[in-house]
Amino acid sequence: MEIRIEKAQNLKVKPDESALGFGRHFTDHMFLMDYDIDKGWYDPRIVPYGPIALDPSSTVFHYGAEIFEGMKAYRRADGQVQFFRPMDNFKRLQDSAERLCLPIVDPDFMLEAMKALVKVDEDWVPHKEGTSLYIRPFIFGADPFLGVHTVHHSLLVIILSPVGSYYKEGINPVRIMVEDEDVRAVRGGTGYAKCGGNYAASLRAGKKAEEKGYSQVLWLDGVERKYIEEVGAMNVMFKINGTVVTPALLGSVLPGITRRSCIQLLKDWGVPVEERQLSVDELKEAIANGTLEEAFGCGTAAVVSPIGELNIEGKPYEIAGNKIGPLTQKLYDTLTGIQWGKIADPYGWIVPLHD
Ligand SMILES: *Cc1c(COP(=O)(O)O)cnc(C)c1O
Repeated sequence: MEIRIEKAQNLKVKPDESALGFGRHFTDHMFLMDYDIDKGWYDPRIVPYGPIALDPSSTVFHYGAEIFEGMKAYRRADGQVQFFRPMDNFKRLQDSAERLCLPIVDPDFMLEAMKALVKVDEDWVPHKEGTSLYIRPFIFGADPFLGVHTVHHSLLVIILSPVGSYYKEGINPVRIMVEDEDVRAVRGGTGYAKCGGNYAASLRAGKKAEEKGYSQVLWLDGVERKYIEEVGAMNVMFKINGTVVTPALLGSVLPGITRRSCIQLLKDWGVPVEERQLSVDELKEAIANGTLEEAFGCGTAAVVSPIGELNIEGKPYEIAGNKIGPLTQKLYDTLTGIQWGKIADPYGWIVPLHD
């Protein structure tokens, strides 16, 4: 499929790279492609960034038929732009589409579309240390029809947002509250899919934690409220007595690419990793007997986010002296080193924008 390009007439003034924040600025262009059940995907195009007109009866507004991805383009010191494991994102987009009965897009075409868009807006990939261009592909149902049905019309959109360094003043550990009422996802539901609905369901607990002075919640499983699943919108890892334990992917946990990368690095460093169920009771015991050495969330936005305090059943527990642990720091340095091209990538994770 040929991607049509319609360039913007007036280019925006680019924001100050030292105050980008997250998801507040958008580039000059966006990628759009339509889907019709009879025609398949058609009319891939890069057009000026702007509002999209939709019929008020569109599926996405009523039944939440929406999936997305989150990834970044990084500018190296030599000026070249590169991506980190982009095909993993596009394969996950396929899995999410399958779960929500949205149309699947070929990962190879997604890569082509994303590269074409980033090339048009290449000047928007920021240069300042720690900054990047956040890439947000999303697909939603757009049938002008209120009946509940799998969608016949969809739209794929890719938008780009220059984002600031996640950590401006060094990596500060965060305070986390264990959520024992609301759940994010259940096995058999949509937890493993990256869909907007999961986020909608998680907002109330996030708000409650924030009101109590915590930055995120630690999610428990939806059946027994006993096993740890994720932290906020990140996967979570605990170093207990020399072994890194992370919740197994049993359907309700999002299969993070940062998680997968951390596991690979840890194994190569000879650190034992266990993907299994981990109960809050086991965690409490590890805190009590001093074997919980480090705890951190991991995801594209923050890379790793150390947990400095855990509130369990209303009681605060300090973790790792409220500091980033040495293994968490090593994972952060290695992953960011590979992503920004400061250290060699022995894994084939990096895909350059220009061949
Ligand atoms: C995106 C996401 C993650 C992290 O995935 P990465 O691929 O590492 O960015 C973890 N949990 C949830 C709920 C997510 O949406």
